This record gives sequence, C-alpha cells and structure tokens, in this order.
Amino acid sequence: MKLLRSIISTHGTRLTVIGAVALIAALSVSAAKLAAGQTKAVTTVSTSEPQELLRDIAAPKTETLSTPATPHVHQIMMEVTAYCPCAKCCGPKAQGITASGKLVTYNAGRFVAADRSMPFGTKLIVPGYHNTQPVEVLDRGGAIKGNKLDVFFPTHKEALKWGRQHVLVTVVD
Ligand SMILES: [Zn+2]
Repeated sequence: MKLLRSIISTHGTRLTVIGAVALIAALSVSAAKLAAGQTKAVTTVSTSEPQELLRDIAAPKTETLSTPATPHVHQIMMEVTAYCPCAKCCGPKAQGITASGKLVTYNAGRFVAADRSMPFGTKLIVPGYHNTQPVEVLDRGGAIKGNKLDVFFPTHKEALKWGRQHVLVTVVD
C-alpha cells in the first residue's frame, strides 16, 4: 500500500507535472491562438484600413478633380483688340479711370476690358499680352461683349501694334 501510494503520489505529481505542462501547453496554444487571432484581427484591420483609406483617398480625389475643373480654370477662344487712354480709344471724356474705379496706371497699365459676365478682378491669361502673365479685368466697353476682350496699353502706338488677335484666353479665377 505504501508503495502504491508512493507510486500514486509520484504518478500524481507526475500527472500534476504533466497536467501543468499540458496546462502550460494548452495556455501557450491558446496564447498562440490568441496571438493568431490577434494577428488575424490585425490583418483584417489592416486589410480593411487601406480600403477605408482608399475610400478616403477616392473621396477627396473627386473633390480635387471637380475643384479646378469647374469654375477656376477654363479657356475661351476670344477676339482680342487693344486700346489706350487716348480720346480716340476712350472718347473725348476719357479721364484715365477704368469702369472698376481703378486708374489706368494700375498694374503699370496692364489690364483688360471684358464683358459683364467676367466680374472685375477676374484674372485672365492672354497669350502675348503682359508676357502671358495673368491680368485683371478692370474695365468695360460698349463693343466688348461676349467673347470679345480689349487689352490695355499705355500708348496708342502699342495698342495699334496689337491690332486684333484671336487667342485662347485662360480664365484663372
Ligand atoms: Zn488710343
């Protein structure tokens, strides 16, 4: 009986040890499972995240695409004439003040007269005028309607030199 007891006890301890090992093993397995589950969770998160990111990227993309495409930049083929502040170009009552109230000396006399569809301050790029740099719409003119534009020059000589040109005008804003 003593021997059996000791065997049992030893066996018992062994069992306990085995049990403990099994428990540890089971724990480590569950830990591994947990870890695996976590990695799975992480993978699912990381796979779902780029999708959301893609959606996030895709959403403002359409916004950024629509922003410059709609009102800010467009081109119009225009008939561009030129004028100066002289009585011949602006009539005998010419006082050197544009329709916007700005003096003709504004921006060193580089601005344009356009139709009312273009508010004052609208920036236009007129190829060949002001080194193809943007200029503002500051003036109006009786004959300046629709797709007609009048570029300003300080002298009549320069205005004559421009003549009449059909150019692709870019509306900056
Ligand atoms: Zn003139």
